[in-house]
Amino acid sequence: MSRKPIIAGNWKMFKTVSEAASFFADVKGKAEVDGVESVICAPFTALPSLVEAAKGTTIAIGAQNLHFEDNGAFTGEISGVMLKDLGVKYVIIGHSERRAYFAETDEIVSKKVHAAFKNDLTPIVCVGEKLEEREAGETKNVCSVQTVAAFQGLSASQAAEVVVAYEPIWAIGTGKSSTSEDAQDVIGYIRSVIAGLYDDATAAAVRIQYGGSVKPNNVAEYMGQQDIDGALVGGASLEPASYIALIEGAK
Ligand code: PGA
Repeated sequence: MSRKPIIAGNWKMFKTVSEAASFFADVKGKAEVDGVESVICAPFTALPSLVEAAKGTTIAIGAQNLHFEDNGAFTGEISGVMLKDLGVKYVIIGHSERRAYFAETDEIVSKKVHAAFKNDLTPIVCVGEKLEEREAGETKNVCSVQTVAAFQGLSASQAAEVVVAYEPIWAIGTGKSSTSEDAQDVIGYIRSVIAGLYDDATAAAVRIQYGGSVKPNNVAEYMGQQDIDGALVGGASLEPASYIALIEGAK
């Protein structure tokens, strides 16, 4: 089963509309490499112009969150209906920063995954352990619980479309990355959890990224591991040259 590598930049709360436009102009044609999917997950405000700029390119645009309802009295929220209408293709769900600072639970993550599918958005679902959980030997257990919740109620064909991002929380933005062997160990385990929920063929179709201090100089090492299909990248996705190097490094 060959899975297309996928590199997704997670800009977090960075870049104005004009900064996003200038970034895109710099990466257009360069962050487009045969055999690697290139995704930019931008703040909501930059999405309309990025989607427009990305037309005719192979770069996909993603959001970093969505509400699980289509519409309603939810001040300040953005729905999957709105993202679909813009032409957004991907949406990050359950990033550890949202779990930690915005009280997102596994139950909310599951509702958001369903909202994404309802609106033809591909979810990039984040799972991963905290430092104290790793030290307590709980890494696989934590990832298993989060993975089971994220796939709750999905058909096998939907499950095959999900992108999972394994991001050990202690490795995010810290410069401390997991070794590629450790990342492979956990990601292989996550794939076995998905196989248990569905079957081997479905699990073999799911793309699983590593995330946490991925840089141009270490991306190839992760990609060399058999179960690692790409990366979710924060800091190193913000500069055009670095983003281009990440896409090239994932070939
Ligand atoms: P980082 O962030 O690459 O800056 O560690 C990764 C993420 O939070 O998705």
